[in-house]
Amino acid sequence: MHYRSAKVRPPKPIIIVHGGAGDWPSELHKQGLRGVRIAAHRGFRVLSKQGSALDAVEAGIVAMEDNPVFNAGRGSTLNLVGEIETDAAIMDGRTLQGAGVALLRDIKNPIKVARIVMDKTDHVLIAGAAARQLALAGGLAKSDLRVSKRVKAWKEGLHKLKNNKVQYLSGTSPEILHRFLAKSSDTVGALALDNDGDVAAACSTGGVSLKLPGRIGDSAVLGAGLYADNKSGAATATGIGEQAMRLVISKAACDLMRHRKAVSAATKVIRYSTRALGLGTGLIALDRLGRYAVAHNTRNLCWAARTVDGSTAKMFGTRVRS
Ligand code: ASP
Repeated sequence: MHYRSAKVRPPKPIIIVHGGAGDWPSELHKQGLRGVRIAAHRGFRVLSKQGSALDAVEAGIVAMEDNPVFNAGRGSTLNLVGEIETDAAIMDGRTLQGAGVALLRDIKNPIKVARIVMDKTDHVLIAGAAARQLALAGGLAKSDLRVSKRVKAWKEGLHKLKNNKVQYLSGTSPEILHRFLAKSSDTVGALALDNDGDVAAACSTGGVSLKLPGRIGDSAVLGAGLYADNKSGAATATGIGEQAMRLVISKAACDLMRHRKAVSAATKVIRYSTRALGLGTGLIALDRLGRYAVAHNTRNLCWAARTVDGSTAKMFGTRVRS
C-alpha cells in the first residue's frame, strides 16, 4: 500500500508476535516472555531498516523456532508415536501471495521452507518428504528438533490419553488410538505492518501434542492459521487447529477488520469460536492502521509487540468467554 497524498500519512511500523495460547505454567513465564520480546525485537529491526513486513514476520518466527521454549522448530511437540512433524505458513497482505508447508521432518526453520514454496513455486501447500526435499534443495539446515521436556510431556500425555483425559482427542476412535499406542503447546505467530503500510502474517508449530501421524493443522493453512490482506489487516491463530480450520478463523478476523478495529474483530471471532465449538483458541490481530489485539479463551497467551515508541510483553490479552 502506498501513501502518496501528503495528507495521508502511513501508520507507524509495528510487529506483534505470540508464543502460543495454553496453560503456560508459571515457571515458564519468564522464558516465554523473554522469547517473544526477542522475536519482536528481531522483527522490528527489519522494519526499522525499511525492510518489508514479510521479512519482519519471518525474522520474528525464526527467533522463536530457534528457541526451545516454544512449540515450533527446535522444541516442537511429539505426535502420538513420538515423532515430530512440523507445519508453518507465511502470507503477504500486499500481493495476497502465501504458502504453507506441512509434516516437515528435521528441518531447523520450517518458516523458511514456507517462504521457498511462496517465492519459488506455483503452489500454496506442500507436505511431507517433498517439502523436506525443497528445504534441502534451498540449502536450509537440518536439525534434531527433539528436546527432553517434550519427550517427558509426551510420556505424560500418553498416560492421560489412556485414561481418556485429553479433551481434544476425545473424538478419535479408540481402535485408531490403540493401533498407534500399541507401537509405541504452543505454536508461534507474527504479524507486521511496515513503512509502506503493507501487512504480513506468519506462523509455525509442532502441532498439538499426541496428534495422529500425518495430521496437518491450521498453521499450514491460509485462512485458518493465518491471513493477511492490506485492505483489512493480518491475523494468526493458536490453539486446537481443527477448530481454527472449521471456522477459517484468521480470514474471518481479517474480513471483520475491513470495518472494525482489531480488538473488536479478535474478540468477536474468539467469542464465536468458543460458542460454536468450545475448544481452546487464541488469536492476535493487527488492523491496517496499526492497531492490534490479543484475544483468547485459554488461560494464557504469551505475546509481545514492538513499535518505535517501545515494547510490551504479556502472558495474557483480552480473555474472552462466550
Ligand atoms: N494450532 C496448532 C495446531 O493445531 C497448535 C497450537 O496452536 O498450539 O497445530
